[in-house]
Amino acid sequence: MPLSCSLCDTFALSGASNNTLACSACQGQVPANLLPLFLISGASGAGKSTLVRHLRPLLPDCLVVGGDLLVDIKNRDRNAFLKRWLLVAYANAQSGRPLVLAGVIEKAELEACPDRSLVGHIHSIVLSVGEDTRKERLKERPRWQKHSAEKLAVRIAEHVGLEMKLLKDADLVVNTEEQGVEQVGEVVASWIKKRVVLATPSMAPAG
Ligand SMILES: [Zn+2]
Repeated sequence: MPLSCSLCDTFALSGASNNTLACSACQGQVPANLLPLFLISGASGAGKSTLVRHLRPLLPDCLVVGGDLLVDIKNRDRNAFLKRWLLVAYANAQSGRPLVLAGVIEKAELEACPDRSLVGHIHSIVLSVGEDTRKERLKERPRWQKHSAEKLAVRIAEHVGLEMKLLKDADLVVNTEEQGVEQVGEVVASWIKKRVVLATPSMAPAG
C-alpha cells in the first residue's frame, strides 16, 4: 500500500520509521508524524461501546472510535479492513491526533499488517468481564435473543476463548464488572494520556 510521494508524484512512499517515509522511486525521504495507536479490545459484552462514549470527552485530543465504522459488509477482507484503520490512524497523526480504536481486533493481526509501519507503537488495552456478567449482557442484545439456549452457550464459549487470546497480548487489562464505566473510563484515559505524552516530544513535560 504505498502512499503518493510528494517529491516525485509516484505511489511509492512507504516504510515509515523514525517519523520518516521513504520513497522507493526517487529514494527521497518525506517527514511524517507517526503516533501510537491504542487498541481497546475485548470479547462481545466486555463493555467496549459503552466505554467509547465515556472516553470521548476524557480524550478530546484523540480520535476515539469503534472499529465497526469501517466494516464493509460486501467485502469482508480482513487485511483491507485493518489497512483502512491504519490509514485513518496515519492521517489523524498528521494533525497530531492519536487513534483510540475499539473493536474485536487483535494486536498481533495489526502488527502483522503490511501497512503496520504507518503507525507508531501499538498499545493493547483489553476489557475483561466474568462469565456470568457477560452472559447477562449478551442475553439482552436483540441479535443474541434469537439464539436457542444451546446456541447461546456455544457462542458464549467462543467469546471466552477469544478473550483468552486477546489477554495474551494485553498491555493493560481492565475488568469492567468490578468498577463502573466512569471509573473504567478514568483508568483507561489516564493510561492513554501518559503514553501519548511520552510519544510526543513537544508535549512532554520540560526537564
Ligand atoms: Zn518519490
